[in-house]
Amino acid sequence: MTKIVLLNATPQNSPNAYLWGMVTVAEIIGQKLFTRENLITLLQAADEEGILILKKAGKLKLKRVGNKVYFRGLIELSNVCEKDCLYCGIRNSNKKITRYNLSDEEVLEAASFAYRERFGSIVVQSGEVTNERFVSRIEQLIVQIKELSNNQLGITLSLGEQTEDTYRRWFEAGAHRYLLRIESSNPELYSRLHPSDGHHPFEQRLEALKTLKKIGYQTGTGVMIGSPGQTFADLANDLLFFKTFDIDMVGMGPFIEHEDTPFGNPLRDAPTLAERFNLSLKMVAILRLMMPDINIAATTALQAIDPLGREKAVKAGANIIMPNITPGNYRNNYLLYNNKPCTDEEPEQCAGCLDARLALTDSEIGYGEWGDSKHFGKKVKG
Ligand code: SAH
Ligand code: SF4
Repeated sequence: MTKIVLLNATPQNSPNAYLWGMVTVAEIIGQKLFTRENLITLLQAADEEGILILKKAGKLKLKRVGNKVYFRGLIELSNVCEKDCLYCGIRNSNKKITRYNLSDEEVLEAASFAYRERFGSIVVQSGEVTNERFVSRIEQLIVQIKELSNNQLGITLSLGEQTEDTYRRWFEAGAHRYLLRIESSNPELYSRLHPSDGHHPFEQRLEALKTLKKIGYQTGTGVMIGSPGQTFADLANDLLFFKTFDIDMVGMGPFIEHEDTPFGNPLRDAPTLAERFNLSLKMVAILRLMMPDINIAATTALQAIDPLGREKAVKAGANIIMPNITPGNYRNNYLLYNNKPCTDEEPEQCAGCLDARLALTDSEIGYGEWGDSKHFGKKVKG
């Protein structure tokens, strides 16, 4: 049986690294030696070496994509979900939550708000629903959002696994980016995070990502960091997966227990929330070093652990923030994990608060801009 190295295994320290003939953190970064083993070294780096990774990534971001942070107003359309991912608070088997579905008017009002506030783009996210009623509803909403914003709001979708035909219809209606996390690039870990009911195969997730790319979406993926049983090697492989898959955008964040799920209690030896947070920042920074011109989100789950989590991620290489613009009365029912922040606020409060906070990171907000992935732009131009 392969030994599972839990995420909180004792970090290697640099004097040992020399003894074993390994390269230093500075050498790995300077010479771009991003092998699996070296990525594990970076992920385990502590103290000054850990800080060095974050600083180098922050600098490289400024050089390659600038100091602008782009907003994507997040509309949590519905918490109705056909899937049963073992980690997620809105999984189908959780009977304790009240299910909701925003009305079309509420979605359009949220999109108008984003347009008025010059957010540039929105993300429509929801539990996974695959029936024709849902598919055509989304199609129409996309067209209406384009109309109400004079074609100016960029639209990202995050609506789970769908058929090629569905992805195509939504693309043709006007959505141009799609977020679908791989959750883990290790099929074995993926299968432990999902039920073995035939509806959650790893291959289906991978195929969906390939289809999105083929259709022409700017394709974003990501993983949860610190998920039950995950190893440093898994995370190193995830980073290599992003690079090989040639992703355009990423959204990664710490796994946080939700009490009404099978993973509601931390496993023995699980990394603490603080460790997951630090590791998430490190994943953001390392990926920025590996793929300097992609879009990297500073995810909300970071803010659930540290109130300044997203700003710290921006300093370490992230350039996208997704302020929640879901009408306030629904937010308490879209709890993917415990302690989700800002669930008692209205959209207006979020916008003002972010402006002030980002000023502290010396970032400028790309108001009214799509802020597309520069990486994608280059691929399209050839
Ligand atoms: N249903 C869609 C979109 C909503 S879920 C989908 O699954 O793609 C969006 C993301 O929330 C998931 O990809 C997952 O990575 C994250 N998520 C779910 N439960 C979580 C938890 N307990 N901790 C951290 N992130 C979680
Ligand atoms: Fe549904 Fe997405 Fe949660 Fe899975 S992660 S249960 S697909 S909302």
